[in-house]
Amino acid sequence: MNVSQLLSDATQRIAAAIDLPLREARLEARVLASHAWQVDAAWLIAHDTDSVLAVHAAQFQTLLSRRLQGTPIAYLVGLREFFGRSFEVSADVLIPRPDTELLVERALATLPPDQPVEVLDMGTGSGCIAITLALECPRARVTAVDCSPAALTMAQRNAVRLSAPIEYVVSNWFAALGVLRFDLIVSNPPYIANQDPHLARGDVRFEPLTALASGPDGLDDLRHLIHAARDHLKPGAGLLLEHGYDQSDAVLDLLRKNGIAQAQSWADLSGTLRVSGGKLSE
Ligand code: GLN
Repeated sequence: MNVSQLLSDATQRIAAAIDLPLREARLEARVLASHAWQVDAAWLIAHDTDSVLAVHAAQFQTLLSRRLQGTPIAYLVGLREFFGRSFEVSADVLIPRPDTELLVERALATLPPDQPVEVLDMGTGSGCIAITLALECPRARVTAVDCSPAALTMAQRNAVRLSAPIEYVVSNWFAALGVLRFDLIVSNPPYIANQDPHLARGDVRFEPLTALASGPDGLDDLRHLIHAARDHLKPGAGLLLEHGYDQSDAVLDLLRKNGIAQAQSWADLSGTLRVSGGKLSE
């Protein structure tokens, strides 16, 4: 079998097993081959009529069979791009999503570029938010919190790879933070309802449930975060939260009831209100 035949066979199988359009399945087949053989996309094109060595075919089939069982591509190749940088990921952390770039954009819009500010990322996972903020806003001192030591280890690896200075704290939300206060708190907390059928479909089946699900209405952690944030924000400091597509009214209500002024929501690229926040009244 040559490279081109192997890729088109894999494309058909991925499309059928994962229910993907052929164009995406073809891209996935190429990504898996590039990763299995440590070659780039140009190599695959230049060598499409080369026959594939048995050992290379076996390496590719191992990855392909895991993909056919549903394992996310990001976990198979161990990387996912976020805000123009490549982050290492494993099954210990949520896969960074383009939606979350909105949270980063809103945070950058509020951070003064020329003053030192203390920023907290709650539930950092891969570290993609904390690290992006630290690199885009070098005067920010960024603290990253996660309750999972394995997640924080991954965040730390990413920070080292990308040379981002980050402070790490293992903590169940604010529990270990004492009386520390920040100029900005950001979070992409779990916000899916426990019984939401989406949890049983696609990539999310393989992601850490503690990073996804949050009580009967998905708002348990957001309620806790918004309530507790008041004790960790300096006067006038900002709070920015990602939430579910239908949660902006509930989150705005919680923000207002907890002393957060100028509460508003912002839409992501698909027009969904995805981030809400405001400032602690002075
Ligand atoms: N946006 C993710 C999803 O819908 C969920 C991420 C989260 O719960 N923070 O799959």
